[in-house]
Amino acid sequence: MHKGSCLCGAVEYEIAGELGPIVACHCSRCRKASGSAFNAMSPVAAADFRIVKGQDCVRDYRNAAGVSRLFCGTCGSQLFGKRDSAPETIRVRIGSLDTPVSGKISAHVFVGSKAGWDEILDGMPQHQERP
Ligand SMILES: [Zn+2]
Ligand SMILES: [Zn+2]
Repeated sequence: MHKGSCLCGAVEYEIAGELGPIVACHCSRCRKASGSAFNAMSPVAAADFRIVKGQDCVRDYRNAAGVSRLFCGTCGSQLFGKRDSAPETIRVRIGSLDTPVSGKISAHVFVGSKAGWDEILDGMPQHQERP
């Protein structure tokens, strides 16, 4: 069981199962959305994911491709993403977890568009786009 929340505490969620492999996405959209070099995310089963507090505060930024980024409307913390094309998977922004994470970043994706000021030094696989 994992638990997570936004910065202001309005939104809390739980994950009943295990986290999937942690991926760092360096695409320009994730950099904008996170305000940082990459977005660290982990896929979890949608059936295992539950918002336990603050559903009313959750905002959904959806693009034309049916990709949603969900965040707290009060503090702006990114919480998770989902796609119309894969509704069974929730991509949790693992920086929002409150419980310890045992794994490490397993791969870097969209390295072809990473920030020039960011250096990837962990030796994990790097993919120019999606693997
Ligand atoms: Zn918040
Ligand atoms: Zn991305």
